[in-house]
Parts: sequence; structure tokens; C-alpha cells
Amino acid sequence: MSPTSPAPTTDDREPDGPVAELVDVSRWYGTVVAVSGVSLSLRPGVNALLGPNGAGKSTLLRLVCGLTRPSRGQVRLLGVDPRRHPEVYRQVGIAPQQEALFEHESPTRFVRTAARLVGVADPEQATVAALERVGLDPADPRPLRERSGGERQRAKIAQAIVHRPRLLVLDEPVEGLDPRQRIAVLDLVADLGTEGHTVLVSSHVLGELDRISDRVLVMAQGRVVAAGTSHGLRELLDDRPMKVRVGTDRPRELAAGLVGVAGVVAVSVEDVPAGERGGAVVVDTLAAPALRRALAARAVSAGAVLHEVRPLDDDLDSVFRYLVTR
Ligand code: ADP
Repeated sequence: MSPTSPAPTTDDREPDGPVAELVDVSRWYGTVVAVSGVSLSLRPGVNALLGPNGAGKSTLLRLVCGLTRPSRGQVRLLGVDPRRHPEVYRQVGIAPQQEALFEHESPTRFVRTAARLVGVADPEQATVAALERVGLDPADPRPLRERSGGERQRAKIAQAIVHRPRLLVLDEPVEGLDPRQRIAVLDLVADLGTEGHTVLVSSHVLGELDRISDRVLVMAQGRVVAAGTSHGLRELLDDRPMKVRVGTDRPRELAAGLVGVAGVVAVSVEDVPAGERGGAVVVDTLAAPALRRALAARAVSAGAVLHEVRPLDDDLDSVFRYLVTR
């Protein structure tokens, strides 16, 4: 489809083209570069966008939807420039991170307002369908301000799907939810992806969306620093240099046994304060899985008991730093 073609409708859309596409897109605000040289294409299924706070995720989501104009580069939504073909906005549903402004409204009124704004043919029926789809009772009149975090997220998702959009953008939908609600909302997002929506969902917690994602994009400092499947990303992270602390009753013997394990580049015995039993070995490795596999056998050979095995640099910041600098 050429850039000047009319906007596609639900019936004449290209079956195989990307739902959204960015080509070398940057967005800056004054001297702040929020998004820098990003190219990507989104297809049906769940696309996870991960990155620490300030990485540029919200700006990227807004660029993908056409809500923010790129400073440089091209955005295509269903094959057209959304800023020149505003009718494609009908094919986008957005659940923003900001809490709903409709605190005094029930989910039903909130979703019905969205359905009317976007011009759905039968707003009543579409509202009931969207609420039931996310597991909310359309007859429950309690306002949003009296609802749990999980219910509020569901209401936001219902207003985003009420017009059955092709692209569904969810900005940090599980932020602040308790573990039970988190699982329920993630299951809902996974189902929406399986049903054929192209879902773009963000999180600042690495690994949070692993289970439900078909594809993962990792952003840091405005750039996409890794892209692929969750499995591929885990392998990439496993291969990064890591420092692992192994607590044991026989540190010297274990340290000697770990020299020569594939990927191990340094082994040191940690000083133990006087009066404390045992000690620890700190291992620098380029291949954490190989170390994990070798550890038990080497401990047995050294006659050592293991108390703990703990990565020393496994915090999120160091993971993102690694992805930026690799
Ligand atoms: P994230 O969603 O990953 O936390 P954002 O896209 O919100 O990241 O922000 C990326 C960077 O762009 C931050 O430094 C932020 O302060 C800046 N930024 C985002 N939106 C604006 C704006 N409207 N005006 C000025 N700076 C902005």
C-alpha cells in the first residue's frame, strides 16, 4: 500500500503488512532526546516494550499511535501516516498510564462515553460486550474511585477495546497491582493478543511480561537496545558478564575447583569477619548457565556445602546498562 492510499478499513486492510511501523524515528523535546533512531514493526500478538523509567517508552507509545509527531523519521499506522490520515485513529485503542479522569463514573458510563466518542454503531451493546470481555459486571454501578486497582485497569482496557481496534496500546497496565490482580490482567492481555489484536504493552520491570509476550523490545536511553523473543532475551542476559557470590563452608577448596569451569574468568575468596563460620567465593563469569551446571559437581568434589548462590549485579539497572553498552 502506498503512502497516499486511502486509510484501510477493517475489511480492506492489508493482511500481511505490519500494523504499525516506525522507520528511524526520533523525538526530542528541546535538548532532551526522548526517542532516538528507532525502527520497528508491530504484528498481531503481544509486543512487550520494556525499559527503566525515563527510557522513552511512553513517548514511543505515543509516536506509534500518532499522538506525538516525530521530530525525524516516519510513522506508519496500517500503512499510512496517521497525522495525514486521522481516520486510522479509529483502529487504535489506548489505555494510558495516567489514572482515569472519570473517578466519579461507573465503568459502564466510562466505557460508554468512549464508545460514543469514537462513533461505535451501537454504544450500549459494545459497552456491555467490552465490559464482559474484561470480566466486569456492566450492571455494577459503583464508581471507579471505589474499585480495586485491577478493576480500574480492566475498565481502562474495556474503553480501549470497545470499538474493536486493530492496535491496542497499554502503558504499564500492571503497575501497582497486587500479584493476584497482576496475573489476571496479564492473562487478559495474553488472550487479547491470541484473539488477533496487535498489543503493544509496556513495563519498567524486566521479566514481568515474559510469559505473555510473543516479541520483546528493550529500550534504554531512547534507543531500542534489544529485540526478539523473551527466550532470546533471557539467553542474551545469561551470556552477559556476571559476578556470582557462592556461600560455602570450604571457600578455598571450592575456589580451586571452580578455576577452569567454562566462562569463569576470575575466582576470589571473600574475607570472612573473625568469629563467623564458613565463607564465600566470588566468581566472575561470562557464562552463568555453565557455572550453574558445574557448581554442584565441583562442590561435591571439593567436599564443600553450598549455603547460597547469588548474583551480585543482577539488579535491573545493571541489566539495562549491560544491554546499552554491549
Ligand atoms: P518512560 O515512559 O520510559 O518513563 P518517557 O517517554 O516518559 O519515558 O520519557 C523519556 C524522556 O523524555 C524523559 O527524560 C522525559 O523527561 C522526557 N519527556 C517525555 N515527554 C516530554 C515532554 N512532553 N516534554 C519534555 N520532556 C519530555
